[in-house]
Amino acid sequence: MSMLSVVGIGPGNPEDMTPRARGALREAEQIVGYQRYLDLIRNEFPDKEYFSTGMRGELERVHYAVDSALGGVKTAVISSGDAAVYGMASLVLEVALEKGIDPGEIEIIPGITAALSCGAILGSPLSCDFAVISLSDQLVPWERIEKRLEAAARGDFPVVLYNPSSRQRKEHLRRACEIIRKWKSPDTVCAVVRNAGREGQESRMMSLAELAAESVDMLSTVFIGSADTVAVRDRMITPRGYQQKYGCLAGGETGHPDRIGSPGLLQQNGREIPNDPGHSQQRNKGRKLLIFGGTTEGRKLAGIADEAGYRVTLSVVSAYGRETAEQAGAPVEILEGRMPETEIRRLLESGRYDCVMDATHPYATHISGSIARAAADAGVRCICIRREIGTGAGEQMIFPDVASAIHYLNSQQGNVFFATGSNAAEQYVKLKDLKDRGYIRILPSETALRKVREAGFRSSHILCMQGPFTEEMNTACFHYADAEWLVTKASGKEGGYDSKVSAAEKLGIRVLVIRPPDYSEKAQICHLEEAEQLIRAGEL
Ligand code: SAH
Repeated sequence: MSMLSVVGIGPGNPEDMTPRARGALREAEQIVGYQRYLDLIRNEFPDKEYFSTGMRGELERVHYAVDSALGGVKTAVISSGDAAVYGMASLVLEVALEKGIDPGEIEIIPGITAALSCGAILGSPLSCDFAVISLSDQLVPWERIEKRLEAAARGDFPVVLYNPSSRQRKEHLRRACEIIRKWKSPDTVCAVVRNAGREGQESRMMSLAELAAESVDMLSTVFIGSADTVAVRDRMITPRGYQQKYGCLAGGETGHPDRIGSPGLLQQNGREIPNDPGHSQQRNKGRKLLIFGGTTEGRKLAGIADEAGYRVTLSVVSAYGRETAEQAGAPVEILEGRMPETEIRRLLESGRYDCVMDATHPYATHISGSIARAAADAGVRCICIRREIGTGAGEQMIFPDVASAIHYLNSQQGNVFFATGSNAAEQYVKLKDLKDRGYIRILPSETALRKVREAGFRSSHILCMQGPFTEEMNTACFHYADAEWLVTKASGKEGGYDSKVSAAEKLGIRVLVIRPPDYSEKAQICHLEEAEQLIRAGEL
């Protein structure tokens, strides 16, 4: 038999083809492959015989290649990326075996697979363990793909999706996101890279929630980060943990602002932090305060603390949060990006901060838990700002979560109006006679609507509207539902809590309040005014 090699040509650009792959193609007399990939190399190897069949003609191509080699023609079969990753290598080996050829005679030449070429465009999304899954169900039953997606998400692997979509299977990516969402946060950092190393190369980053609504094609590879993955400007980084282990600081003692592992520090607003603002109280001067939350409370506290002479760092999740904070005008350092717990711990352990304040949204439970734990571990004082539950509290029943409120409602009769959002969808299912007695008000988002429909709410019982709501609007909604029960979070005045409760009370509706999560063991719980006083009095 003549030479038969299976060659991974890399993503498509000549620089990313390995010298060994190039050598094999030079040596070959005939190159066999899918038309699109042959076109990527034709210019460089104009004098070769080329053999191609259409998209689904793999088997025919491979038989042809093996037979040609048997007949004495030096043959190379090519795949894009690596030939052994969703490529032709295994098929060539199988067909060779069938034809009685020793598979040891076939040379497999590795190439840079899409996970790596696309990953490099993004930065370093796959720095540790990761999972690669193809969404193509041509050769693998879809149920198995779902199982693997679930396992990878459950293990918090960064996941790379090959074959994310095609004309026949537009829904696959959305469904994959849905499965992954069970285990990963909706703001998990994700990215799509299209045409890596080829004409029209593009990449874009987004959250997992946004990815579900993205339209991607077969020329794209999708990345879904782990809980540690961060987005830093246009880079996607999954830290390996060096900074934590060896304690080198991002921008701190090293004075090097551009180190990985600290999403925010790379996104400082660039303004000078005054060392000795004239108006500072002497007592607080130089004390450093880290505030989490692009909320009204977060911005307000940052301003007050700045005035009181603290050196303030404000951590916000989004560019929007940063903009609003910048508009508020306090000359504070702003960190942008979702910080994983490991990162918060590292930042606090660095000794840069004397105190940390959690002014995140009261139901941002995940981040609040992370802040409280990290601060306790690092021995940094933590103050958690909680909104007032409201005044007319007499008639309200407090529950720790939606599940226990529903458990109670199952012993009662009458229609229930849920103002607790679509995220609790899995709990609503448990309400007895949900179809008849359950009403829900959610944000006008397709995902939210799908979730509550799946939970079993009737279309005519779903109100999609954007708050905040006036008392009149609440009254109209509760009337429409003929509600006897209202289930709501204690979302504070800002969250429209008061106008819900007042409307309910006037209509004689009983209110079930879901208590905000409590971190009192690890953090000191304060209302906004108390926190302001502590700052002003220099008692942090
Ligand atoms: N053997 C190839 C994979 C073939 S499966 C490899 O190792 O890379 C085809 C899928 O690979 C595509 O649907 C896409 O998800 C991914 N892919 C291949 N080349 C790509 C490129 N240049 N840019 C982006 N994605 C690519």
